[in-house]
Amino acid sequence: MNAEIIAIGSELLLGQITNTNAQYISRQLANIGVNVFYHTVVGDNSARLSEAIGHAQKRSNLIIFTGGLGPTKDDLTKETIADSVGRSLVIDNKALENIEAYFKRRNRVMTENNRKQALVIEGSMVLPNDHGMAPGMAFQEGEVKYLLLPGPPKEMQPMFTTYGLPFLFSQLDKSEQIISRVLNFYGIGESQLETELLDLIEAQTNPTIAPLAKDGEVTIRLTVKHESKTEGMKLIEELETKIMSRVGAFFYGYDETTLTKEVALLYKKQNLTIAAAESITGGLFSSELTTLPGISEIFKGGVVCYSNELKQTLLQVPNEVLEQFGAVSGECAKSLADNVRDLLSTDVGISFTGVAGPMPIEGKEIGTVFIGVSEVGKETKVYPISLAGTREQIQSRSVKYGLYCLLKQFQKGGKNNVF
Ligand code: ATP
Repeated sequence: MNAEIIAIGSELLLGQITNTNAQYISRQLANIGVNVFYHTVVGDNSARLSEAIGHAQKRSNLIIFTGGLGPTKDDLTKETIADSVGRSLVIDNKALENIEAYFKRRNRVMTENNRKQALVIEGSMVLPNDHGMAPGMAFQEGEVKYLLLPGPPKEMQPMFTTYGLPFLFSQLDKSEQIISRVLNFYGIGESQLETELLDLIEAQTNPTIAPLAKDGEVTIRLTVKHESKTEGMKLIEELETKIMSRVGAFFYGYDETTLTKEVALLYKKQNLTIAAAESITGGLFSSELTTLPGISEIFKGGVVCYSNELKQTLLQVPNEVLEQFGAVSGECAKSLADNVRDLLSTDVGISFTGVAGPMPIEGKEIGTVFIGVSEVGKETKVYPISLAGTREQIQSRSVKYGLYCLLKQFQKGGKNNVF
């Protein structure tokens, strides 16, 4: 199945919003082995949308639309698609009930134009909108399958996973299973990883190997097509074993995970608590951890010790350390990690000190960062690193590095040879 995504909305063309829907849908389709060959963005204009549909019908057999299903005049997606396939629009009573109930629950008066949202393309399968009003639709005309989804991501994503994916599965060729696994790596660049795996990448057929670099991380997607799920899985595992024997030291987790989630899982499992002392990251590390619900079980809190004064008064960094080595030093990182662990009575203390720019500090280059990791009963580790990028990038990369240090501190299996 060759797919194409058409996102509708003038605000996308004006640069007011980013086309995250296309990104999301593409990723989901990659998971089930559906090729996506085109992304198109069209404004709220029927003629131009018609033209885009015409192109798509010639080159794709699955067209997915997002946006323009709302009640206002500029929402013209379904009208235009219906026209292009010669079908009419009919009221869907269930969708209408859902819209009326939506207004009732909120004690608001339903205006007439909202009835328009209950209009669906004749003969289509109606996809309920569990988080909004406009229903989605799926149908086939000739050789082409059409899937219409709303624009707001909080409506589109659950509709796609709950109703869109089962529809697509029902249309896929059942004689072949598509199995895919993503391996996530940190601490190794894309080019180095490719060099290590070059022979495997060059020889790839089934499974395929697709490396992708993003935000200082590299992922590898392995995808296999096989009649038997068990046999397909075996092929993935054989290839994964080969990959891990070469770059396993940099691996941190499977599929949709993140460094933050892996740290949370590992520390929860081992009943460990964390405290942070943040200078260069200014609270970013604490903020990143607290994006996860339930993190209070492991993350006790942190101190943003930006000034030297606070490093001394609150975190007891000795004056001699600051005078002799400076705030941006391994010695200071060590003292901060030890003392924040003491102050907050946790099992582990982590510290971040460095130069984010735009000017060097204490004669130290921009991007110089020291991360300290202090653990009860163990010698404190200090990781001197050198990061590139803007001030924001250096800060966010420091946070990632810190998460990776925390992970490697307790991960078993000889995967600690990175630093
Ligand atoms: P509504 O009922 O809210 O009008 P709709 O299906 O008509 O839904 P749009 O009006 O096109 O959708 O978009 C509504 C909002 O959804 C946009 O303002 C934007 O915030 C978000 N949105 C739309 N399309 C996209 C997209 N491709 N990527 C990310 N967000 C989007």
